Amino acid sequence: MVLIQNLIFTLIVSLGILLPDLFLGHISKLLTCTVPLTNLLGVIAFSATLSFVRNKWALAAVAGLIILTQTIQVNHWAYFGASIHSQDISKAFVELDEITQTGASLVHQLWSVWLTLLASYGLIISGMLYTKKRKQLPFAWVLIVLALGITPVLAHIKGPSSFYTKPTYTTIYNSVRAFSDWIVHSKSTVKSHDYKPYTVTYSAPKVKNVVLIMGESLSSRYMHLYGYNQPNTPYLDSLKNNPNFTYAKGVSSSVSTRTCLQLFFNTFHNPGFVECIRKKDANLFRLARHQGYKTFVLSAQNEKLFHDTGTEFVDVFASEKEMHQALTQKGDEALLDNLAALELGDKNFIVIHLRHIHCPFGAYAKYHPELAVTVDHKNRASETQQEYSNAIAYHDYWVKQCIERVQKILPTDTVVLFTSDHGQLLGERGLFGHNQMQPEVTDVPVWILAIGANNALITEIKNHPIYSHYDLGKHVASLLGATISNPNEHPTLQYVHGSEIYSAYEYMPWEKSAQGVAFLENRWVGQN
Ligand SMILES: [Zn+2]
Repeated sequence: MVLIQNLIFTLIVSLGILLPDLFLGHISKLLTCTVPLTNLLGVIAFSATLSFVRNKWALAAVAGLIILTQTIQVNHWAYFGASIHSQDISKAFVELDEITQTGASLVHQLWSVWLTLLASYGLIISGMLYTKKRKQLPFAWVLIVLALGITPVLAHIKGPSSFYTKPTYTTIYNSVRAFSDWIVHSKSTVKSHDYKPYTVTYSAPKVKNVVLIMGESLSSRYMHLYGYNQPNTPYLDSLKNNPNFTYAKGVSSSVSTRTCLQLFFNTFHNPGFVECIRKKDANLFRLARHQGYKTFVLSAQNEKLFHDTGTEFVDVFASEKEMHQALTQKGDEALLDNLAALELGDKNFIVIHLRHIHCPFGAYAKYHPELAVTVDHKNRASETQQEYSNAIAYHDYWVKQCIERVQKILPTDTVVLFTSDHGQLLGERGLFGHNQMQPEVTDVPVWILAIGANNALITEIKNHPIYSHYDLGKHVASLLGATISNPNEHPTLQYVHGSEIYSAYEYMPWEKSAQGVAFLENRWVGQN
């Protein structure tokens, strides 16, 4: 009789653990997860062993672990379309404010996910609470500790690359792998590299004013300028035949905002060369200041994103905190008011960091509703793509206002350069968001406009239809009159780095090819 209660415990707890996969994977097909036989047997064996555990604190700890890891995992999966990677787990703890904001804006898409999670936890806890008469054994908890410990031990022995997540397995399977890898590797020291330091040689600056606009989550393949089928970039299109304007297909240096800013402003290139960030030998703000430029950053985002970007070499730094009220009222147009009010120097290096086109993409329609095309709510991909395209129309309008302001305050000897920190996935292969090591996330625009200056300044980009963040960083330096030489460059390879570069991380090597950008197989750096 007592064993029947163990059986009931096993069934209810197993059902609870697998509910997200059964409902969101198999029934509503909101996630790509399924329940392969091996996962099913594994969960049943684990729950059956757990049913013999006597210590209520051990049970509570297991329930707590499942709730914590699955809350992060299932929400990540529902939002991004894929399992969480161990390297993104720390972000779930440090970027809580941003995550709550995004979640709040997606209630209409995520409510069924949250209900399923509540039901899942309800089942697991009830299974534990209402089977008090089940047979219990004093040392069953040892088996549970062994079961929970085996994956981290394997992660330690085999290294994180053996713990890639599997997009069609259960959420719990992927949680166990990602969190085991995270526990073992997040604190591990990175192997040092034998890279040689950069050298910088200085000459006369090529132009007096460099305005660099760093966009947000903008992928070139959704811009009409680059061939997208909706006319969402009328202003940039109008520059196409302007002899002072040119554009290229950009490749970002990473897939997350924070890393991209660190890598870009430090002209980072070789995987694992964190010394380059610590020493800041090729930091663009540093080079600009050395060359007598007054340096400015106007950012519509949180200043913590500028960690390790060389803000110590910035004369005027204003972030979201300083412009909060104006940004809330006017959106990124508030940046232009601040731009117009800057006390300029004789030579100026101005960085403008945008908030748009950050998710939720529909949020920008309120500033200029006349620019938005009606959104079709047929499915998530088409809805997101239309909102994104509308946000690009807003972006194009913003660029026009920005260029007009720059023409007023810096009418001569000026270049404006643009790129985005990273691109965005909008339903490609069922994937959304950024932060994933996928080629689409690295797709960004790069353009340059010379204002009252020699149009030979645009030749370098005109001659290179594919232009990476690294190429662009070196080019900005050369405009400032600083030539960066990096003895560690490979003749053909460039790299897209992971979203956390201070521990062992995954990167994507790529080469310029006649067809465009050819990505090679992902590799790892810094593993012991
Ligand atoms: Zn970003």
